Amino acid sequence: MVKIQSDVTVELVKHSASDSDVLWAARVSTAGEQSLEEVHKDPQRSKGLINFLMRDRHGSPFEHNSMTFFISAPIFVFREFHRHRVWSYNEESGRYRELQPVFYVPGKDRKLIQEGRPGKYEFADGTDEQHALVERAMTESYRQSYAAYQEMLEAGIAREVARAVLPVGLFSSMYATCNARALMHFLSLRTKDDRATVPSFPQREIEMVAEKMEAYWAELMPLTHEAFNGNGRIAP
Ligand SMILES: Cc1cc2nc3c(=O)[nH]c(=O)nc-3n(C[C@H](O)[C@H](O)[C@H](O)COP(=O)(O)OP(=O)(O)OC[C@H]3O[C@@H](n4cnc5c(N)ncnc54)[C@H](O)[C@@H]3O)c2cc1C
Repeated sequence: MVKIQSDVTVELVKHSASDSDVLWAARVSTAGEQSLEEVHKDPQRSKGLINFLMRDRHGSPFEHNSMTFFISAPIFVFREFHRHRVWSYNEESGRYRELQPVFYVPGKDRKLIQEGRPGKYEFADGTDEQHALVERAMTESYRQSYAAYQEMLEAGIAREVARAVLPVGLFSSMYATCNARALMHFLSLRTKDDRATVPSFPQREIEMVAEKMEAYWAELMPLTHEAFNGNGRIAP
């Protein structure tokens, strides 16, 4: 009755984002309306300007672009995601539709053991027994809570009331729209990367979402992505 999933999905559904968007926005400083000619110019020639803007944290030229992602992930990931206030979101409703029984169980490659102190956790592999326990305990709990949800719906209880029994491992879906500057800020906090001069220690599941977004963005804005990595993965 319940479907178990160990991965998240991210799809880039709409975008208007390229390295040249950074260039025409930045060059209005010196070229005024003529900076619009930059739109059709080869951004490769202006790699140095993008790097300068990133290094010196001139952030606003990285805002004149847009990316919309469709994301499917557990509710506990969305709780973390929605703390990023400069994004725009629309999420499926537990009031207006019956929530589907799709739940998260960590895959075999998900490290289970937490070590170290708060804010600086390191994670180690779990044993086969620990993985089996997590899978069994979660699946049983998900079955039970989804059965309680169904029982209440069948008895005529409103969806918005019945959903209270569903856990944060339930999958939800949303559209999330951002610009490159907001995405870089998100990536700096929600990925762990050796090139970051200020390391972060994100939960693995939101990092899985972040990695998929970053792959799309790197295709759209390769020079900006390169400058982000080259300057310590700090949002300008
Ligand atoms: C590893 C990790 C652990 C965390 N643990 C916790 C936790 O235990 N508890 C918890 O509550 N949260 C926690 N958070 C969430 C964190 O505190 C931030 O809410 C989240 O990372 C969003 O960051 P932000 O506010 O910079 O982003 P955004 O909301 O996207 O804002 C982007 C930038 O805009 C500016 N800005 C936005 N709103 C304001 C404002 N009102 N005033 C001034 N400037 C503003 C800031 O410069 C900000 O950096 C954690 C985050 C991470 C990455």
